Amino acid sequence: MSFDKAIASGKEHRKQYRGAKAFDAYCRNHGGCSWCAENRQYANIKAKQKADAAVDEYLEQQDTKDEKRLIICQISQI
Ligand SMILES: [Zn+2]
Repeated sequence: MSFDKAIASGKEHRKQYRGAKAFDAYCRNHGGCSWCAENRQYANIKAKQKADAAVDEYLEQQDTKDEKRLIICQISQI
């Protein structure tokens, strides 16, 4: 008996997949569909971008500090 007939008979409690889930096997809960994964993990992606930006900003500050230290050392050697 097919799934459709089982639903029609009332013996099956599950529902047919609708929308993208009907034709894409990866478009399920916790699935690999990139579209749905991005929607699901929106806050995590934004938090990661924010953390990466903070790390970049910190490294840039460190670079400028190191450059200033080098210049000060070079000046003091002269
Ligand atoms: Zn999907």
